[in-house]
Amino acid sequence: MQNWLALADRVLAGEEITNEEAEAILDCPDEELLVLLQGAYNIRRAYFGNKVKLNMIINAKSGLCPENCGYCAQSSVSTAPVKTYKMVDKETLIRGAEEASRLRVGTYCIVASGRGPSEKEIDTVISAVKEIKERFGLKICACLGILKPEQAVRLKEAGVDRYNHNINTSKEHHPNITTSHTYDDRVKTVETVKQAGISPCSGVIIGMKETKQDIINMARSLKALDADSIPVNFLHAIDGTPLAGTDELDPRYCLKVLALFRYINPTKEIRISGGREVNLRSLQPFGLYAANSIFVGDYLTTEGQEKSEDYRMLEDLGFEIDFAGEQQPVC
Ligand code: SF4
Repeated sequence: MQNWLALADRVLAGEEITNEEAEAILDCPDEELLVLLQGAYNIRRAYFGNKVKLNMIINAKSGLCPENCGYCAQSSVSTAPVKTYKMVDKETLIRGAEEASRLRVGTYCIVASGRGPSEKEIDTVISAVKEIKERFGLKICACLGILKPEQAVRLKEAGVDRYNHNINTSKEHHPNITTSHTYDDRVKTVETVKQAGISPCSGVIIGMKETKQDIINMARSLKALDADSIPVNFLHAIDGTPLAGTDELDPRYCLKVLALFRYINPTKEIRISGGREVNLRSLQPFGLYAANSIFVGDYLTTEGQEKSEDYRMLEDLGFEIDFAGEQQPVC
């Protein structure tokens, strides 16, 4: 048996794990899983205690995307029946923030489909963000696609705290998932937001026929990018998308992946993201011994579990909500 707790101690002492150790985490025998998670929890607790960050998404613009990401129901190659609408108005964005504040959600994520935002869309987001910051003091994460440097600067000036642009998969596997843009395009946007002084959020989707080495490469690439926040999605394959029918994950493997991300990115916010409910199933609570962040409510094109079940899970774990808003929560 690997000495997972000693490995966690070495991570806490500032050492990086080797490739062999990373492979061993993903190959961890099921009977050692609790000890592997104990090590991940020791690391998580050192930096985040028992706090859990909550995030809520508003799907600000849905469908109509010209890109061809194989996992996405909103892409030009998907036949999945998704709602399609243009960027919602400022008032709708503000109403969503009000709900996020009421639910003690620290970060409100404004997400729009498409290759990148138009100037008009940026104007709408900026106008809403200024009012949301004033009224609710929420952290704002924008996710609007490939960004130009001047757009990043405008978002920063409006008060956007964080920008999400996922690398999604490894550089090597990326052409198998999307051909309408490159892995380097994605990295460039992460670098652009960093240069504008916005906190970078970038994550992955696990379960898209990648190898274990691809997963290790993803975790290391995000470390190199210095992403402050790392959403780990588990593929929820949607009928009508090119990846429909792909069903490679089991809940224990998902936990090993979350542990790997924690051992490689010890100080970063790791969020269990899309596909949490369908892939981790009854083992969802265990994920929070490695990760320290979740979404509440629905994802972009799939439903999450009832919000009350998420709050019950945190209460049962004895974990505390890390509410970053400045106003008193109302519930
Ligand atoms: S992931 Fe984003 S860029 Fe890719 S198809 Fe979906 S909406 Fe478009």
